Amino acid sequence: MLKSLSMKYFIQTFGCQMNLADSERIAGAYEARGYSEARSLAEADIFVINTCSVRQSAEDRVYGLGKKVKQKDKNKNFKVVLTGCVAGRALNDKSGKQLKDLKKKMPWVDEFLSLEEVGFDYPSVRADKKHAWVPISIGCNNFCTYCVVPYSKGREVSRPFEDILKEVEQLARIGYKEVTLLGQNVNSYGKDFEIPDQNQKGNGSKTNFADLLEAVCKVSGLEKVHFLTSNPQDFSEQLIDLIAREKKLDRYIHLPIQSGNDVILARMNRKYTVAQYKDLVKKIRAKIPNVEFGTDVIVGFPGETKEQFENTVQTFKEIGFKVAYIGRYSPRPGTAAAKFFKDDVSKEEKKRRFHVLDDLVNKSRQKSKED
Ligand code: SF4
Repeated sequence: MLKSLSMKYFIQTFGCQMNLADSERIAGAYEARGYSEARSLAEADIFVINTCSVRQSAEDRVYGLGKKVKQKDKNKNFKVVLTGCVAGRALNDKSGKQLKDLKKKMPWVDEFLSLEEVGFDYPSVRADKKHAWVPISIGCNNFCTYCVVPYSKGREVSRPFEDILKEVEQLARIGYKEVTLLGQNVNSYGKDFEIPDQNQKGNGSKTNFADLLEAVCKVSGLEKVHFLTSNPQDFSEQLIDLIAREKKLDRYIHLPIQSGNDVILARMNRKYTVAQYKDLVKKIRAKIPNVEFGTDVIVGFPGETKEQFENTVQTFKEIGFKVAYIGRYSPRPGTAAAKFFKDDVSKEEKKRRFHVLDDLVNKSRQKSKED
């Protein structure tokens, strides 16, 4: 896949922090093979497009890039590589149909690159010299019905504990003060393997996210450690206790709720109830004074009635989130929700629900500034 010498690559990244970190890994893999970074697309030989499928609009922007790759006619070495969620979803479709469709839609793409192929063998190339994104796992096993990640990025694979620690130690040595550990669900880190514990006493005992986070916090030179994203169902007592005592960790916790109604949560295949979510918040608040919460939520999920949405409003009022990423539901091809549920909440109603929650969060943020 990644071959050749003294050529230049240019990467365009769409989507979340995870994709940003993936692009840094891709850059590392190209540089290890003698490529250097092009300052613009015009001087590139390889154009890597790291795609996002969280919304249709994000995908459409990728399909529209065909116009940008005119230099294909001028530079016979010029190659377009498609990676990330759009490519991953098609590559992981065993029937081959999605890849065939994608090739038809994007005849100007020369190669479809799976992120599994990129791996973690080469040092990431980071533009930011103070703060680093550090992936600790890729993929996800949760299959929330609206989400493409388990299809586009595959099942969850945790990076070895020692590799992550070595990378963070190296980052601290060269002057990084801040790192963010990244995973689709950081709290299930390590569930897929067993390693001896740090004192080598464990004889194959399981490690987990709190163990990893604690070890990362001990790296000298680092001042701040963040992590993204947490699934409420896997948020452990051990993690709460660690946040409570460890000064390098934020007093801000991002905890996606997605809905404040149990019927909708079950239809989303989220594996907690609203009561369990609230209990977790209560437990965290009891141990970590001044903690603040942020969340992700989807409005207008198929079948969400006005009453069910009101449950979400009530939950927002009770918890007082300081940050909320509010998504208006849109069906993503290949997901269970797209296959089995009708997208039956109108655009206008989704917009209204969006603004109700957005206003609440703004008020809550304003209030905490005044307090
Ligand atoms: S936890 Fe759910 S929403 Fe998050 S990446 Fe996994 S499947 Fe998607």
